[in-house]
Amino acid sequence: MPHQVRRRAAGTASGMRNIRKAHRLAVLREIYAAGAATRRDLAARAGVSVATASNIVAELIRGGVVRETSYEDSDGGRPRGRITVDARRGALVGVEVRAASIHIDVYDVALEPRTQRIVPATSRRDLAHAVSAAVAQAGIDTGRVIGVGIAAPAGLHGVWVDPAVLRAPVHVAEPAAAAALAELWLGPSRHATNLVSVTLADGAGATVMVGGAPLATTGGWGHTTVVLDGRPCWCGRHGCAEAYLGAPGILRSVRELAAGSRLARDTPDATVRELHRAMRDGDPAAAAVIEATGRYLGIGVARLVSVIDPDAVTLNGWVVGALGRWLVPAAREEVTRRRWPSNVRIEASLVPRNAVTAGVAAAALQAGWVVDVAPSRR
Ligand SMILES: [Zn+2]
Repeated sequence: MPHQVRRRAAGTASGMRNIRKAHRLAVLREIYAAGAATRRDLAARAGVSVATASNIVAELIRGGVVRETSYEDSDGGRPRGRITVDARRGALVGVEVRAASIHIDVYDVALEPRTQRIVPATSRRDLAHAVSAAVAQAGIDTGRVIGVGIAAPAGLHGVWVDPAVLRAPVHVAEPAAAAALAELWLGPSRHATNLVSVTLADGAGATVMVGGAPLATTGGWGHTTVVLDGRPCWCGRHGCAEAYLGAPGILRSVRELAAGSRLARDTPDATVRELHRAMRDGDPAAAAVIEATGRYLGIGVARLVSVIDPDAVTLNGWVVGALGRWLVPAAREEVTRRRWPSNVRIEASLVPRNAVTAGVAAAALQAGWVVDVAPSRR
């Protein structure tokens, strides 16, 4: 990324600032990914010179963001410090607003999960209070929260927290954009030149990332046609990916394909959980729903692959968390059946736990630290 940025932005003062910001982001992400690394390793992984990496590390140490821990001897040369995130610095909160519930995950600054709290969707009227309670449950003083990230579908924007209540900056993002950011910070495919993150939750979305930066969040992908003249979608079109791959769409498939079975529950969440349980028990009605859903997913992914030809497609979101181990192979099969001449890897995300809350916490972190490492503020 740094090289592309340099070409595009060279020659202007704001261009120079953008390059510095891109380099700082690249180095910071590598510190997160590595856990602890020398300046030389960080430079190599982030694609910057050792001098640049050293300058950025010095800046981050002055800002209290990272610290130097152990030293290792370099074959008789002078010892080298290892750089690690200063997890004691404070906490980040990642909130995922779903249709039926709100998931509040408290992370330390190293993005390691500390506590998880699930509250009813009605709590969004007083989200600041719910977040404060979750932070207290983690044993953290609210004054030490350095950022709150809230991932909410577009239709649920605008209800949110008064930042003054938490005295911490609040960052709002689409779930698909948040999950994509988690892939860049914590996923093993983050160095892929072209990576597509596909998120299945209450809705369905995809984000294309080129050279380590999000290129476009395609809420649009969720509304591409996977079934000609298919079921109506809330967007007004027919046969959209979201109408088959979002949790409400899966509930509808259950009603169509497994009518009379025990699989259909009152809510999409409960139905997805029931499908998970039934698949573990080898239930044939559940297998039929998964097979159909996997094919729809494969059709949607094949379309992305045909246009972008990414190195990897990584699937995340709570629906993938519950059903990915069956959906992903079915989707892969469908892509193969369509014979796209591509070596794309199609995998369930390896971001630990919830990619959406981790990603939106990383977004809050990025907004605070990458744009402005200002020691005086904290
Ligand atoms: Zn649609």
